[in-house]
Amino acid sequence: ELTYFNGEFVEPGAKCVSLDDRGYCFGDGVYEVTRVFNGRCFAFSYHQDRLYRSMRFMDIPVKMPPEDLQELHEIMIEQSGITDGYIYLQITRGVEPRHHAYDRAKLEPTMYMYIRPIKEDLSKLGDGVKAISLPDERWHHVDIKTLNLIPNILAQTKAEKKFAYSAVLFRDGICTEGATSNVFAVKDGILYTHPADELILKGITRQLVVTRVAPTAGVSLIEKEFDREFVDNADELFFTDTIGGIIPIIKLDRQPVGNGNVGPVTMKLRDGYEKLLAEGLA
Ligand code: PLP
Repeated sequence: ELTYFNGEFVEPGAKCVSLDDRGYCFGDGVYEVTRVFNGRCFAFSYHQDRLYRSMRFMDIPVKMPPEDLQELHEIMIEQSGITDGYIYLQITRGVEPRHHAYDRAKLEPTMYMYIRPIKEDLSKLGDGVKAISLPDERWHHVDIKTLNLIPNILAQTKAEKKFAYSAVLFRDGICTEGATSNVFAVKDGILYTHPADELILKGITRQLVVTRVAPTAGVSLIEKEFDREFVDNADELFFTDTIGGIIPIIKLDRQPVGNGNVGPVTMKLRDGYEKLLAEGLA
């Protein structure tokens, strides 16, 4: 584990954040989580693009140019010696006495990063997980990867209390995404997922499934809204996220999904995703 804070490496958990940091008071900031595999960042350019998009939306000035940000990621991998793990990056708006409105000109963003190894056996996720359904109670811009994750935290905690891996969220009867992931359904061999609008986070794993993995595997995909009934009749369901990749859901609300086993389309896509991860992607 290696931790970075505003230009230097510090002890993990070091007390260096001001109490007046807007990240601390308001959750006023953005973040990214990038997978490190075989000693390299996977799909770094995708994460970088999403980070800068989140910052533009939030009106947080970019102080570190893309080349330096990439180099910092590489240095953290090198210095930590971690080859299989992830890098968390958080940028908050900066430090000033608490007041809702901010003064962009006066603020210097705070940057915090760490690299940690992945210790759990992720291959176990391939056996499939249980999920529960919950209402999506978040704001109308979850496409921005902000630190404000209260509804996600509450949903994930509810799921874990019920011994589920995570929650599938529904807004006005429509399946949006997972508490910490995106959601795909398979029906009659066709893959479905919610369009990448402002009601879901445009997950990088989702994006790679849509643009690379599904086309390579010859699986047709439709990005459109689908409802609870569609989910209940789906042959297969899965989550996608940076750490777990493609995670089959074999039970939803204690009912089996399809025949209750990991389905063939999910398996094929998992294989394709793992191949892409092993090959690496800039
Ligand atoms: N949706 C939400 C709400 C998330 O928190 C995440 C990741 O943590 C995702 C989707 C998946 O995004 P990615 O594939 O970029 O990890």
